[in-house]
Amino acid sequence: MKPRRIEILGVPVDCITMDEAVDFAESMIKGQHPCAILAVNPEKVVRAQQDNALLTQLRNSALVIPDGIGVVFATRLLGGSCTERVPGSELMPLLCQRAALKGYKVFLFGASPDVVSRTAQILQQQCVGLKIVGAQHGYVKEDDMPAMIAKINSVQPDILFVALGSPKQEMWIARYLPELKVNVCQGVGGTFDVVAGRVKRAPLLFRLIHLEWFYRLLSQPSRILRQTALPIFAYQVLRSKFTRRPDLQPAFSVPTAPVSRSHSDSGKSDHHREKAA
Ligand code: UDP
Repeated sequence: MKPRRIEILGVPVDCITMDEAVDFAESMIKGQHPCAILAVNPEKVVRAQQDNALLTQLRNSALVIPDGIGVVFATRLLGGSCTERVPGSELMPLLCQRAALKGYKVFLFGASPDVVSRTAQILQQQCVGLKIVGAQHGYVKEDDMPAMIAKINSVQPDILFVALGSPKQEMWIARYLPELKVNVCQGVGGTFDVVAGRVKRAPLLFRLIHLEWFYRLLSQPSRILRQTALPIFAYQVLRSKFTRRPDLQPAFSVPTAPVSRSHSDSGKSDHHREKAA
């Protein structure tokens, strides 16, 4: 099933449920071309409007999941139809379960050496039979990257999870996916830290009332600068709604090349992006 892609403030997002995302990822595993799965949250929507390289990579990805509840609410407010959040940190373990069931090979790349090896151990306990064909920490020097790519290609994983944080992982995937013999590459941010138990997810209550972002702010105050994107995102979405700018649009089929926005101020926005890039 091909997800319905729309744009929020010019940034793509696929309206898809978690179950559909797992099935869609599996269809990509069976496909012929390497595909990227990325996530968008309010912070990334704000950043992508200023960062042309990030925006292009999101647009070129086969699947862009609505990771943050803010993104889901924004699609509803602007007339779209995302029904639920699809957090990358939940999609990843589900893909591992599917991989264990079907015998797909996975490779873990990112986080600190102890976190990535602990993540591999825990996933193997949780997903009996999971074939983890490699686990590499995320602090590889640029000069050593060709050897790292060769290492991944020698084991030909079906799924490569990349946990370098954003936007580093998106840029890494844009640069290296064409050279990789993998079918699916998911950018998973800080998910290995969560799986390894180094970072706690919000308690269920916070998640149920959609305040996971607030819990994260309380538990990691160092993220305060990043969280300033939330009011900016809310303002941009509300402005878009009440000035009736068509900032949420049906987008293109996936995967796709960059396209220009069609509404009246698209030239202005593109100009700003070019300046920022
Ligand atoms: N990281 C990495 N290599 C780097 C920079 C970061 O492997 O050069 C890892 C870092 O150890 C952490 C993750 O990337 O595990 C970033 O987590 P964060 O929660 O900041 O990511 P987010 O999902 O918020 O982008």
